[in-house]
Amino acid sequence: MGIKRRDFIKKSIMGGIGIWTTSIFQTPYVWGQGGRDVKLPAILGGKKSHYDLWPAWPVWKSPTYDEQILKVLQSGVWSRATVTSEFEKKWAEMVGTKRCLSVVNGTNALITAISQFNIGPGDEVIVSPYTFVATVQAILMNGAIPVFADIDSETFQINPKKIEQKITSKTKAILPVHILGIPADMIRIMQIARKHNLIVIEDACQAHLAQIKDKRVGSIGDAGCFSFQTSKNLPIGEGGAVVSDNDMFVDKCFSFHNLGFPYGASVGAVANGSLNIGTKIRFTEYQAAIGLMQMQNLEKETEMRWENGRYLSERIKIIPGILPCKLYPETTKAAFHLLPLRYVKSEFKNMSRSLFLEAMRAEGVPCSSGYTSLYTQPFIKAAFESKLYQKIYSKKELNYADFLANNQCPANDKICNEEAIWITQNMLLTGKSSMDDIVTAIEKIHDNAEKIIQKFEK
Ligand SMILES: *Cc1c(COP(=O)(O)O)cnc(C)c1O
Repeated sequence: MGIKRRDFIKKSIMGGIGIWTTSIFQTPYVWGQGGRDVKLPAILGGKKSHYDLWPAWPVWKSPTYDEQILKVLQSGVWSRATVTSEFEKKWAEMVGTKRCLSVVNGTNALITAISQFNIGPGDEVIVSPYTFVATVQAILMNGAIPVFADIDSETFQINPKKIEQKITSKTKAILPVHILGIPADMIRIMQIARKHNLIVIEDACQAHLAQIKDKRVGSIGDAGCFSFQTSKNLPIGEGGAVVSDNDMFVDKCFSFHNLGFPYGASVGAVANGSLNIGTKIRFTEYQAAIGLMQMQNLEKETEMRWENGRYLSERIKIIPGILPCKLYPETTKAAFHLLPLRYVKSEFKNMSRSLFLEAMRAEGVPCSSGYTSLYTQPFIKAAFESKLYQKIYSKKELNYADFLANNQCPANDKICNEEAIWITQNMLLTGKSSMDDIVTAIEKIHDNAEKIIQKFEK
């Protein structure tokens, strides 16, 4: 490393790039042209851009939280009861819907919502290809067919124009995902849905408290689904919720989540045992207690992610080849469960994204490349080959090669395979100087791309 560094400095001087001060042997610092700092990247032996640990996630505030959870444990009431109802009431209030039903996780929130809108065999559901596998699994678990509408690369969200092109006589619903916590284009999506009489289920599993105009996501479509899995912005370990203003629908969801036992208006008041097809996916009292405590931090943390996410997105604009994500004009808040950036390799002397990420890690800034394209995973084909699908659909409908051909999403594939860089939400729960460190890290790598490639790719 030492030799490399000296080489680097010598080359810089010989190349007339800059002069150096006496501090250079402690901190590899070279003053570049135009007075711009050109620092040696950590991957080449320079100093890291960020030394502090990033904020831990999830957060348990002991002893403040201890008493609340102990109270629930000591009560012996662990199955769904009053704490769960309180959690549901508070979450509905926060999202701005009339009702909320908690379930075991976000995947089952989606499965429940899809099934209780009676979406199933023979139906098509238009969905974004840029999502966690759970969104698509929930469609398949109901025996329906996912139809992918490509994303807009600038926003990472499903493109409404592509949605319209995918509508057929079989389309029953649109399932927009506010992926990365960034609101999808709900204004246009709702217009399309109304025009074609389609149900809209929002996958808001990454988008707690994200907002479009004065409405929080999850409250805009016919129903919204949330996840409280540990990594999510409201972490419980596992947990999920369906929210809606539609009483009849939420009553049906309640019955479904509790073995089809009667609940509210959907099945009348008769308590004669189970009345509907249902499963058992109830929340527990201790999950609800943890959720209530985590909820107290959510608004403040959301604000911080929003502030820092926007600040960082603005600042990185000075670096060629790193593009911030665009928001739709009506967006008043993004939850930035993940802050996405787009990596343009050609501006980094064609450095591979994986080497860029390695260099970022060396700087003390761990990032990832995010989702791989969903088609690379065998699960949709497996569904088509399953007994259930073989009974429901014709051979022609289950031709997987045709399905692939009709569902190509080139914008999504480019984001997945080449461009996406994710910064996780906990990294935004810190001060502006940490955001500056991220910018410094990218700048250093950008300015020394050639040298990094020479060392690692040639
Ligand atoms: C996490 C997630 C889900 C599923 O939630 P779980 O609670 O993990 O089951 C669904 N959709 C998206 C977009 C998610 O990020």
